[in-house]
Amino acid sequence: MNEMTSPQTAALGGHDNRSRGAVPITVAYGDGIGPEIMEASLRVLTAAGADIAVEQIEIGEKVYLAGQSAGIDPSAWDSLRRTKVFYKAPITTPQGGGFKSLNVTVRKSLGLFANVRPCTAYAPFVATKHPGMDVVVIRENEEDLYAGIEHRQTDEVVQCLKLISRPGCEKIVRYAFEYAKAHGRKKVTCFTKDNIMKLTDGLFHKVFDEIAVDYPDIEAEHWIVDIGAAKLADTPEAFDVVVMPNLYGDVLSDVAAQIAGSVGLAPSANIGLEGAMFEAIHGSAPRRADQDLANPSGLLLAGVMMLVHIGQPKVAEKVHNAWLRTIEDGLHTYDIHAEGVSKEKLGTAAFADAVIARLGQQPTRLAPVRYDASGQGFKLPTVTPKPPAKKELVGIDVFVHWRGEDVEILAETMKKGENGAYSLAMITNRGVKVWPQGLPETFCTDHWRCRFMAGPNKQFNKAMVVEMLHKLTKAGVDFVKTEHLFTFDGEPGYSLGQGQ
Ligand code: NAD
Repeated sequence: MNEMTSPQTAALGGHDNRSRGAVPITVAYGDGIGPEIMEASLRVLTAAGADIAVEQIEIGEKVYLAGQSAGIDPSAWDSLRRTKVFYKAPITTPQGGGFKSLNVTVRKSLGLFANVRPCTAYAPFVATKHPGMDVVVIRENEEDLYAGIEHRQTDEVVQCLKLISRPGCEKIVRYAFEYAKAHGRKKVTCFTKDNIMKLTDGLFHKVFDEIAVDYPDIEAEHWIVDIGAAKLADTPEAFDVVVMPNLYGDVLSDVAAQIAGSVGLAPSANIGLEGAMFEAIHGSAPRRADQDLANPSGLLLAGVMMLVHIGQPKVAEKVHNAWLRTIEDGLHTYDIHAEGVSKEKLGTAAFADAVIARLGQQPTRLAPVRYDASGQGFKLPTVTPKPPAKKELVGIDVFVHWRGEDVEILAETMKKGENGAYSLAMITNRGVKVWPQGLPETFCTDHWRCRFMAGPNKQFNKAMVVEMLHKLTKAGVDFVKTEHLFTFDGEPGYSLGQGQ
């Protein structure tokens, strides 16, 4: 680990609160192992001299079971909005439907667009197959399939909307490059699947290429996420900062944390323009609760990130170095304990005591960390909206619930919606073209997409859409949704059917 590029923290784009006295932070003790590891972490931070004023809120299982489907009491938002800094222990999401993810709600409500997850190996003190690993995964946190917009449309088909926006891509990609610059990191890698999702992942990749140009000193590369993930799991040493859309980031940051040594060690910062949330990446491990067993390191290192964010880098440095020294001294909780490497197996509270006893000490074999004395974060990215493109309606996709087998019959029915200006151009089933000239082998469900296109130089407008739907209703068509097909400055804003 390089002193100047301490992966755990350094500037995250935080605020400078040094002159304002004790910094108010909102703290939630969470469920399962949460209260034990939060108590241990706060004890270490306070012993190191963290100047924080804790406001405690209740979140998680109890709140869910009391009838708040988001797991957070409305009054808790007052504290979060006031302090803008949330130090959060893991919570248990009750089994069964009707409960919304608290994490997703907090991230999206507070606009925490960047999820920063440093994944570092501590070899030889924590077993890992990748001793040189030092990767920071930067995950987009607000968009993608996490918009939570899902529908059942037919007997057989459900859908989830994948939403990717240009401002969303610009914020996260610029954040990744600024993070790399502030930490003296050499390379930013982007993972997408834009060979398949040409518009959504394609936009992420395109914005990455555009923004990379502004950082000539940082190497920029793109991998298709499948082979990129394989390479990350196999040779993590080849990566430095990796930025990706929400879902891939969710999966791959856990993989990266696990192969670095243990999910129990990895912290996570959720950064927004207004606020930030700091937590461990692991969950509430209910089976380990109330036994003084759990490793508080993930949450403690998240606390280190928080201290840098609130402008107390020297306290952060003291805690982090004491923690590295504790790990190096072989004082380990059960999850990372190994015969021959560890000296003593400690419980949660004793581990915290061991870190406190080492405050002021440096590690001697692991590289000590050093944090920017100013505590000032780098400037967070803002987005300047682009001027609107010339948008023209050129067609419409009508999605139909239909249980028949002979697609010619469906085509004949749909043609009843045509007028002289537009006509039925294609029918697909699960994205594969089945009319005209489909293959008999294609498996079809009861969910059909019927594409109407305006002819060359013919106009298509919203009034015609309404008229078409009126005609289709009369023809007995069970349409379940429509999507308008636009061009933007002449470029199609829709994908072709597979086989089209
Ligand atoms: P988990 O991360 O809680 O636990 C998986 C296993 O990892 C545990 O059984 C334990 O062996 C080990 N482990 C995790 N953290 C550890 C620690 N600090 N010290 C030692 N060992 C540790 O994942 P799970 O069992 O899938 O989820 C349990 C609950 O946590 C679920 O209700 C889930 O929804 C929730 N969860 C919450 C968060 C969060 O609040 N951020 C994140 C993930 C999961």
